[in-house]
Amino acid sequence: MSQIPQMTDEQLQAEVTAWLDANWDAATKKSRHNVEAGLKGWLKAAFEARWSVPRWPVEWYGRGLSNEQAKIVERAFAKVGAPGTGLDRTNLAANTMLTYGQDSLKRDLLQKFLTSEGSNYCLLYSEPGAGSDLASVRCRAERQGDNFVVNGQKVWTSGARTADYGMLIARTNWDVPKHKGISFFVIPMNQPGIDIRPLHQITGDAHFNEVFLDNAIVPAANMLGAEGDGWKVLQTALAYERLVMGEGAGERRQGSFKDNRVSLVALAREAGCLDDPLIRQEIARATAYRQLNTLNMARAKAEMAQGTSSPIMSLGKLAMSRILHEDARVMTAILGASSMLDGEGNPRPADVNYRTFNAYMTSIGGGTDQIQRNIIGERVLGLPREVELDRDVPFRESRAVTG
Ligand SMILES: Cc1cc2nc3c(=O)[nH]c(=O)nc-3n(C[C@H](O)[C@H](O)[C@H](O)COP(=O)(O)OP(=O)(O)OC[C@H]3O[C@@H](n4cnc5c(N)ncnc54)[C@H](O)[C@@H]3O)c2cc1C
Repeated sequence: MSQIPQMTDEQLQAEVTAWLDANWDAATKKSRHNVEAGLKGWLKAAFEARWSVPRWPVEWYGRGLSNEQAKIVERAFAKVGAPGTGLDRTNLAANTMLTYGQDSLKRDLLQKFLTSEGSNYCLLYSEPGAGSDLASVRCRAERQGDNFVVNGQKVWTSGARTADYGMLIARTNWDVPKHKGISFFVIPMNQPGIDIRPLHQITGDAHFNEVFLDNAIVPAANMLGAEGDGWKVLQTALAYERLVMGEGAGERRQGSFKDNRVSLVALAREAGCLDDPLIRQEIARATAYRQLNTLNMARAKAEMAQGTSSPIMSLGKLAMSRILHEDARVMTAILGASSMLDGEGNPRPADVNYRTFNAYMTSIGGGTDQIQRNIIGERVLGLPREVELDRDVPFRESRAVTG
């Protein structure tokens, strides 16, 4: 299909609603057809009907819709509780690949990424010694024929054990300044050269891992952008990650409320302290933060729709980090002494305690709060750049290598 006729908002609304009515059973929250195929079957159906990435161009599985029209689709899906759309905002791997991948790679992988039940990729960025300063990565990729051979170590890699692919930054040139010698690859994870070891978090989860790459192989065709231009590709990928984190993060556990705005009020009502003026004030403040952030994210999304990687995204991520800490603190205040309890027999305190620990995920993952402040200072407020003495020297002469 090379073109989809332009539709008015009403026509689009009618088409998506009719398609959902015909294909999705809102009562059981399942596809009406081929129920055995489960979520995967549903995602494939949404993909084939071009609802997965409605903002994307028609030649790449989309409908070329504006941001406003894509939201009509997202709202229609949300109304009936159907997953499978909006991946043109939320799937950072697919979006980065669309922008920078060769056509052959996009043909091979995009459908797989857009119809995967969970996240089928992980982010192989951070290393011991290269977290906030990602441009100091020392993991190396060396060309051998049609492939690159990768050696090095990554750390804090979320979801590495279940990922089929890794979005990898590796150094391909040590003789140019640190930002210039990095390349970005999509590396297959299931291969003998990759060893994954889980790390345990304070929440009790073990979502992230150490990843050791020992002569791991990645085809040269899996490079995104040009060789040595990986820093630029990374900025796009990070902007998508911050967008998602800015919209909200933090898994919930047994006993948790679905909607955070409701949850603070409902929790206070349940705990019998909704009339307490101090608690009410705390709830109002936490709710105002959320509302402000929603408005700010709408601003950032509008900039992204114009094709720029918005620094305002950093404001959203920073705000969400504060919101999650605030929510957890207010919830702990509401529960009072009972927040000291934990475990399966105490689902409410267990949920609140989990939120308290898990709030750090957003303050550190995807770039720490301090780094977001640096970005806001430099790119939003126009303050002078942070001094970086080794920015312009060949990487092999930089502090990261010479110590
Ligand atoms: C839940 C979670 C999931 C993650 N998932 C992934 C993943 O999937 N893939 C991946 O690659 N990484 C992942 N990370 C790693 C994360 O991106 C890094 O932890 C983060 O970038 C910080 O790097 P670091 O841990 O090396 O800390 P460092 O960079 O060593 O920072 C230590 C402290 O110094 C501060 N600091 C450092 N530089 C500056 C500066 N220039 N100005 C001001 N303060 C500064 C930091 O803010 C921080 O407080 C994850 C982390 C978390 C918590």
